[in-house]
Amino acid sequence: MDEADLTVAAVESVGTDTVAVEVESPPGFTAQPGQFVKLAFETADGPEARFYTVSSPDVEGTFEVTVEVDPRDDVGALLDGLSAGDSVRVSGPFGRNYYDGEDPAVVLAGGPGVGAAVAIAERALADGHEAVVVYRADDPVHAERIAALREAGVTVAVPDTDAALTAAVGSALAEHGRDSQLFVYGFAPFVDAATAAIEGAGGRTDAAKVENFG
Ligand SMILES: Cc1cc2nc3c(=O)[nH]c(=O)nc-3n(C[C@H](O)[C@H](O)[C@H](O)COP(=O)(O)OP(=O)(O)OC[C@H]3O[C@@H](n4cnc5c(N)ncnc54)[C@H](O)[C@@H]3O)c2cc1C
Repeated sequence: MDEADLTVAAVESVGTDTVAVEVESPPGFTAQPGQFVKLAFETADGPEARFYTVSSPDVEGTFEVTVEVDPRDDVGALLDGLSAGDSVRVSGPFGRNYYDGEDPAVVLAGGPGVGAAVAIAERALADGHEAVVVYRADDPVHAERIAALREAGVTVAVPDTDAALTAAVGSALAEHGRDSQLFVYGFAPFVDAATAAIEGAGGRTDAAKVENFG
C-alpha cells in the first residue's frame, strides 16, 4: 500500500510507556504478523517517519501496532496523544521476517518486539500450530494477552537476565527441537543478546528470522 491516511480505531495503554494503536485496514490490505508498516508524521522540525511492527494476529477490519512511546520526543508525543477517530499516514507492509505458518514458532522478543511475539503466537494458535514466546523484560507489557496465551497452553517465558534468556531458549529448543523456526524482534542490544542466547543454547542463527529495530 502506498502512503494512505487511515483512521485510528482505538488506542490502549498496554503497559509502561507502551500503547497499542489499532488502525482501520483499507480495502485489500494484507500483512502478516512480524511485518512492519511506516507511519509518517509532521512535526515542528519537519516530516518524520518511524516503522512499527504488526502486533495483531490478522488485519481483518483493523490491524494493530505496539508502540513504545517517549513523550519527550516529538513523534512520541504525537503517538501518545492519538485517539479513536484521528488519522495516521501509513504505508506498507514491509519486511520478509514474518510468520508464514511455521510449526512450531519460537519467538524471542525484547521491548516493543513483544507485539510481534504475541501476534505470531495468537496466529499460530488460530492455525492449530504450536508457539513458544521468550520475552526478555524487566517490566513486561501486554500482560492480558500473555495471560490468555498461557491459558491457551502456549509456553511464555519472561526472563529478566541474559543468562535466563539463554536458559529459556535452551528449554524451548529442547522441548520443540533444535530445527524449530526461530523469530527475533527488538532493538539492536536485544538482537545481540538473543543471537548469543541462540548460539549458547545450540540453536541455528542462520535460519532465524530476525528484525532489528535499530
Ligand atoms: C523494522 C523496524 C520495526 C520496528 N518496530 C517497532 C515496533 O513495533 N514498536 C516500536 O515501538 N518501535 C519499533 N521500531 C523502532 C521505531 O521505528 C523507532 O526507530 C524507535 O522508536 C526509535 O525512535 P527514534 O528514531 O526517534 O530514535 P530515538 O528515540 O532517538 O533513539 C535513538 C536510538 O536509540 C535506540 N533505542 C531507542 N529506543 C530503544 C529501546 N527501547 N531499547 C533499545 N534501544 C533503543 C535505537 O537504536 C534508536 O535508533 C521499529 C524499527 C524498525 C527498523
